[in-house]
Amino acid sequence: MVSPETGFQSLPISHFMTASAAFAVEVAVAMPVRGTFTYGVPEPFVLAAVPGVRVLAPFGRRRATGYILGPGGSPGQKEIKPILDVLDEGPVFPASMIPFFRWTADYYKHPLGEVIEAALPGGMTFFECAAFSITENGRRQLDGGGGLTELERRVLERLARVRLRARELRKQIGQEVPGPLLSALERRGLLARQVLMRGGAAKPLQERWARAGAATSADGLSPKKRAVLETLLAAGELPVSELAARVPRAAAHLRALEQAGHLEIFSRSLYRDPFGEPIPPDSPPTLTAAQDEAVKNVCAALGKGFRTFLLKGVTSSGKTEVYMRVAAEALASGRSALVLVPEIALISQTERRFRARFGERIAVLHSALSGGERFDQWTRILRGEARIAIGVRSAVFAPFSDLGVIIVDEEHDASYKQEGGLHYSARDLAVVRAQQLKAVALLGSATPSLQSYYNVRTGKYTELALPQRIEERPLPDIRVVDLRQLRDLRGPGRFISDELKHAMAETLSRGEQALLFLNRRGYASFPVCAACGSSLRCRHCDISLTLHQAAEAYRCHYCGYSRPATAVCDACGSGKIKRLGMGTEKVEAAVRALFPQARIARMDHDTTRRKGSILSLLKGLRERTVDVLVGTQMVAKGHDFPAITLVGIICADLSLSFPDFRAGERTFQLLAQVAGRAGRGERPGQVILQTYNPENFNIRAARDQDFEAFYEKEIGFRKALSYPPVARMIQLRISGRDPQRTRQTAERLGGCCRALQAAEPENFAALDILGPAEAALARIAGNFRWQVLLKSLNGGALHRFMDRLIAEHPQVFAARSERVVIDVDPFFMM
Ligand code: ADP
Ligand code: ZN
Ligand code: ZN
Repeated sequence: MVSPETGFQSLPISHFMTASAAFAVEVAVAMPVRGTFTYGVPEPFVLAAVPGVRVLAPFGRRRATGYILGPGGSPGQKEIKPILDVLDEGPVFPASMIPFFRWTADYYKHPLGEVIEAALPGGMTFFECAAFSITENGRRQLDGGGGLTELERRVLERLARVRLRARELRKQIGQEVPGPLLSALERRGLLARQVLMRGGAAKPLQERWARAGAATSADGLSPKKRAVLETLLAAGELPVSELAARVPRAAAHLRALEQAGHLEIFSRSLYRDPFGEPIPPDSPPTLTAAQDEAVKNVCAALGKGFRTFLLKGVTSSGKTEVYMRVAAEALASGRSALVLVPEIALISQTERRFRARFGERIAVLHSALSGGERFDQWTRILRGEARIAIGVRSAVFAPFSDLGVIIVDEEHDASYKQEGGLHYSARDLAVVRAQQLKAVALLGSATPSLQSYYNVRTGKYTELALPQRIEERPLPDIRVVDLRQLRDLRGPGRFISDELKHAMAETLSRGEQALLFLNRRGYASFPVCAACGSSLRCRHCDISLTLHQAAEAYRCHYCGYSRPATAVCDACGSGKIKRLGMGTEKVEAAVRALFPQARIARMDHDTTRRKGSILSLLKGLRERTVDVLVGTQMVAKGHDFPAITLVGIICADLSLSFPDFRAGERTFQLLAQVAGRAGRGERPGQVILQTYNPENFNIRAARDQDFEAFYEKEIGFRKALSYPPVARMIQLRISGRDPQRTRQTAERLGGCCRALQAAEPENFAALDILGPAEAALARIAGNFRWQVLLKSLNGGALHRFMDRLIAEHPQVFAARSERVVIDVDPFFMM
């Protein structure tokens, strides 16, 4: 077997002897190809080749990682190639997940092998790639100077220094290096191509252990060896490191003892514990009447087939307690439970509560884990050692085979949508997985997505309500301040109103905590030249730069492009740049100026890059070493801090003006959620909501915490304009570095769509094809962006249309220079 080793590894083809195949298997290959493939299984692999194991398989001129899905076509066929190796001793996912993978690939129009690759913990895929180096001939040609094009010369110059893969070469040269050019250089003997295997780095951490061997007599052993043996006999078996700690310099004698048969050395997989501090067990509280009712309803449905519940509970109504009771009941009936939570800001807290209740039966899956830790968590679930998993969106693929319930907390949260690679919604997949397993799906939120509430109204989901806060604490009192009145003021008074300032002073004087929310990071989001009035813009994106004071730089929030804070105006060269627009850094500075005594912290993307920084910020809040927390939407997410009695929303309008049909929904959810952070303890909370649009419907609905009113109005818009959840959408996103060719590709794609519709009006007449149109952000990181939007009231027809489009124009979707990305049920429309 191939040992999964880190980094480069070269495997000669001759290493794999191809015996004749004993039977055939269906394999999904981790490559951008549609469909599955049949491979033969040679004799030596017959026992190991079961569904769910990874194999190494020849693919075209390469070798690739594949996943066995089940028996394949007939093994007698001549053209069937044999697999080259089996990479695992047992399945890395349960066979019961295969239908789920197939559904996902089919629905999201993504290659099945890449779906499985995305589902597995990172680093489990081997792939083959070519690296290039210069030959002696190539060096001579380079020195001679003649017979090379400009690009050929630059390629060879790079390769004269170091061996590079095609992708690295492209990066270093800063332009596309066409494959045919490399092949031509290879034929001319100027460069050499080597085939490398990479990846597959994730594996169990091995620890060396010792136990007593078969030899019985200790006669003739030195006192030192005797001491080693006695220690071992007393303990049964020990890690070698522990043995060496108990008997100094034991390691030096192990080999001799092993050879004489006195002991055995073996290795054992080590479990990397991702948890930090110990958490004392909790005792479950008595449920409130509403909680009890919800728990009874869900538990009555457990084990009785598929059903989806939407738990609509106001902020701080005790939803987590409901989840824990339901999970406990699933466990009691011999099934496991999967709990999805939004990104890591929340997982720490939910994880704490679940661990306090369930201890070591829990596995966690999130991005703060190292690759090895994640692999270990995965393995614990696979083996049935962990019965509950808590994780972020990718945990929807946790390798359970016996799920009783899948819980999705804060189901409206945007972080359940995966952008890039396999585009999917973990919330939607959670419901699909529950359906396939005949399990219960439990979605919860104080501000349900329009989609889920629509499903309640249409009878697909069952609504459960927790209409009151725990202990009947009141919802916070929300006061609206009209920012237009502050327009002519200067300094902090422009964005921190007197009302907010006074409320903060009172809160701090009572020793309580305040949370200030602004959904934009940095210091000034709109730097403008004082001389000529042009704004400082990103060189690679259609967007203005943001000044970050701490970093002393202007930064682009889309591509990371950065200029020093001393930069001058591109248009006129003036160094006088006005720092207009605000961000969390500016708010923090203003609070420091207004309240020099207060202990202030900031939580946004800039302050939480380091591993563990979110946890330490939250710890500061919990232990009350922080008085004021300033932050972006990271602070809105589900946190439960009883001493926060004041929430200040600096400017409620930032997300309202986005050119996206969900702008109103996002604004309502964000405001209602952030307001819900106030008054969760014994003291009542207050919220000061500052806005330039006090009359706006979404803002008024958030002020009144009136989800129903918001829903009725918003669903009316969606119905009138045929937007989701009433209709279904697929977005095709076209991007490329060349503006002309990107536009042409978009137009060609639009033409293909219209031609297909015209050819089959009986099937596709009810489909809306919108575009191609330039994206709202027309350029990001040097890529020009276009969109085609497909929309229909009939989801089935929409998907059939998309499948036909892919089948009839595969080259459009496989092109590499102008990429076309398929986003089913898109979430971010810009
Ligand atoms: P939500 O998720 O709905 O915002 P939480 O689950 O965070 O609410 O609950 C809010 C607080 O109430 C938490 O501190 C929780 O421990 C507490 N709590 C929940 N249920 C009960 C109960 N039945 N009795 C007492 N306290 C409870
Ligand atoms: Zn200027
Ligand atoms: Zn940029």
